[in-house]
Amino acid sequence: MISDVTPVLDVLKTIDEAAAPLSSEKVALRDALARFASESIAARSPAPAFSNSAMDGYAVYAADVANASDTAPVRLPLVGESRAGAPCDDALKPGHAIRVFTGAELPEGADAVVAQEDTVTQDGHVQIRFAAPSGHHIRRAGAYFERGAELVSRGGLIHPGVMGLLASQGVTSALVHRRPRVTLFATGDELFEPGAPLPRGGIYESNSLMLSALVTQAGGIARVLRAAGDDRDALVATLSDALRDDVVITTGGVSVGEYDFTKAAFENAGVDIALWKARIKPGKPLVFGTSSSSRGRSLAFGLPGNPVSAYVTFRVFVEPAIKRLLGDPAPFPAPIEFTLAHDHQRRAGRTELVRAHVDPETRRATLYRHQGSGNARSLAEHNALVVLPSETDRFSAGASVLGFLTSPIGVSAPWIP
Ligand code: AMP
Ligand code: MG
Repeated sequence: MISDVTPVLDVLKTIDEAAAPLSSEKVALRDALARFASESIAARSPAPAFSNSAMDGYAVYAADVANASDTAPVRLPLVGESRAGAPCDDALKPGHAIRVFTGAELPEGADAVVAQEDTVTQDGHVQIRFAAPSGHHIRRAGAYFERGAELVSRGGLIHPGVMGLLASQGVTSALVHRRPRVTLFATGDELFEPGAPLPRGGIYESNSLMLSALVTQAGGIARVLRAAGDDRDALVATLSDALRDDVVITTGGVSVGEYDFTKAAFENAGVDIALWKARIKPGKPLVFGTSSSSRGRSLAFGLPGNPVSAYVTFRVFVEPAIKRLLGDPAPFPAPIEFTLAHDHQRRAGRTELVRAHVDPETRRATLYRHQGSGNARSLAEHNALVVLPSETDRFSAGASVLGFLTSPIGVSAPWIP
């Protein structure tokens, strides 16, 4: 176990080393969206699968129309038709033309297509006024890729474009990494389910709903257990049940107060604690460990109870772990450079993840003035987390800072030139 307060980068490395892609399963291609391929996928057939016409027009021998011009058009008899889904059975003989449509198989023998716009038809003949070089308006079989070409690499994300490509190959299923099963529950004697009347001193339990949504968004399968009270035995019992899953997340009771039992309960439930406390704000009290049993291996996270701290520590530490289990080869959020909209001062000493609103047009980041971890409203409003490095205490307006988006940002009007 790493002692004391662990720098954020070391926390990230410790967690990432404990997380590896889960086993694979075969799923229907339609269910593979946002999953990661556990083996590479090769082309079953060349693309295009057969040479076909790129235009509505006429299939010809290029040599027959080599001297065609406006003043000396070439006149060829029309001897057949090939359209998409209904190829022409006969081969094209020199001195003839076959009517073709976009996507139709190129008749055997033909080596060029003259676009309809460059022709006139009359009495069963086509008059061609432009020379078409060999290969003109033809999509050759295998021009895009050959059979056996790697279409999806191992670890590749199955996104809609990939699904379209695989479907075009007749593929109906894919081997992907299993989705992590994530069990989570809140702890705290003060917690009551939303909807119930609140007694004095009670608050609504909001973490498990927020976290299960984050788990789903990250690609995991969330299971929420009833909140546990601040009672070590109850916690151990709930944990023991939860530890059959790939990831376990608790919130609350992870600090140093007399009623904070999470760390001890983790130990009692057999979790091998890898770290406790991270040099991060918010979210300093944080437990992470692993548990291995005949039922499998679990990553166990004890997040702080404060909703803002739970949110931030999930985003920074848990989300990349879930993505790694899912098979994502690049699970960390992409850093983006933002410009600070105003001066900012704070106490140095911890890496701080600040809720911010980034203007989509200017990319300027406004940091929420109330960064107190009780300010849940900023959870709803922010669209980025800005990372303030541990040792810096003053930031000036216009300074460039790194951060990442937590929700997609759009602009209010079309911008494509
Ligand atoms: P703790 O980490 O248990 O010390 O809790 C820190 C703060 O977060 C306290 O004000 C708790 O009441 C609050 N809190 C803890 N768990 C939750 C939860 N599941 N939903 C909402 N607030 C919580
Ligand atoms: Mg508590």
